[in-house]
Amino acid sequence: MVIGVLKESADARVAIVPDSITKSKLEGVEYIFEKGLGVNASITDDQFQDYGKLTGRDEVLKNADLVICINPIASDEMKQMKKGAAIISMFQPYNDESVKAALDKLDINAFSMDMIPRTTLAQSMDVLSSMASIAGYKSVLTAADHLPRYFPMMITAAGSIRPAKVVVLGAGVAGLQAIATAKRLGAMVEASDVRSAAKEEILSLGAKFIEVEGAAEDTGAGGYAVEQSEEFLQRQREHVQERATQADVIITTAQVRGRKAPMLLPKSTVEKMRTGSVVVDLASSTGGNCEVSEDDKVISHHGVTIIGNSNLADTMPQHASLLYSNNVLNFLKYAVKEGAINYDMEDEIIGGSCISRFETAS
Ligand code: NAD
Repeated sequence: MVIGVLKESADARVAIVPDSITKSKLEGVEYIFEKGLGVNASITDDQFQDYGKLTGRDEVLKNADLVICINPIASDEMKQMKKGAAIISMFQPYNDESVKAALDKLDINAFSMDMIPRTTLAQSMDVLSSMASIAGYKSVLTAADHLPRYFPMMITAAGSIRPAKVVVLGAGVAGLQAIATAKRLGAMVEASDVRSAAKEEILSLGAKFIEVEGAAEDTGAGGYAVEQSEEFLQRQREHVQERATQADVIITTAQVRGRKAPMLLPKSTVEKMRTGSVVVDLASSTGGNCEVSEDDKVISHHGVTIIGNSNLADTMPQHASLLYSNNVLNFLKYAVKEGAINYDMEDEIIGGSCISRFETAS
């Protein structure tokens, strides 16, 4: 099986890196790479050379039995792929129903890494966790960079500085990493989530839990949060506002899979925050947790810096690429038998992630 790896067009990361090819020891496959694919992740073509041929984009698309990328490519490019070939990407079909319908019209198979179930068996293939963890870490570093104040407590001859107060909204993978990073930098941290399991995790990281009673939960939602009532969200916004007026930094990561992100930080709350404070909204691409945040923009509102960025993993491309690559190759170790993809659609991992199946008439 020929695996083709593409250069991302608007992303510094690369889907497969040499280090993880070495470690994966995937058998019965050979690689072709698009020239320059790792340059923005500080991985040179020379480093790929030992693992396969470097060639043009069209050649990769035409010759690969399996194309691997991070962001979905245009359907015109997918049309260049061999009939019956496969593509692995992050299609996010839960955010847009038309994605699957468009793939179904093509003569290829499509796997979406973000559809792999969040089970113990599939943990090593979980790209959402790998990328969210980086985003959580970078959200705090980004906030610290924009904050005109210290994070840690400082006792100096010129006077004492109190530690920064950080509020984290949403304590999934990104939020927990943000809490841990902010604590490491010496901040005092408070966090909120609607899943009861998150409370213990927040406390175990040494942060305070912002208790808002009456959150809805569904054990059948695959570990994901469910949409809350407007009445609950209103009460939550009031609790958040109390903390926000004291906070130096607010990191928002709250998401409900397949839905618009809950709005937890209205404009009126931002206007009550101290000038110089920073909000980092990791949910900006799905509508944002902060009413005034704009996706992919850094803005200032009422003296507060608001950073809308749902792709912070892209700002740490070398490790983000390594982890994505490890996740994909772990998936392929599971899904490839004797050099071919085993389309066992009954299998929870393979069937769960194969969002479009092209079956040749036999
Ligand atoms: P996510 O990105 O979908 O959402 C981020 C967080 O926002 C979640 O913790 C969610 O509960 C929270 N949230 C939603 N609405 C909120 C609101 N109104 N207020 C505050 N918080 C709100 O979540 P994720 O990081 O992808 O994690 C999803 C689930 O998957 C979690 O339960 C996580 O523990 C689980 N998980 C399991 C595994 C595994 O077992 N292999 C691996 C990773 C994650």
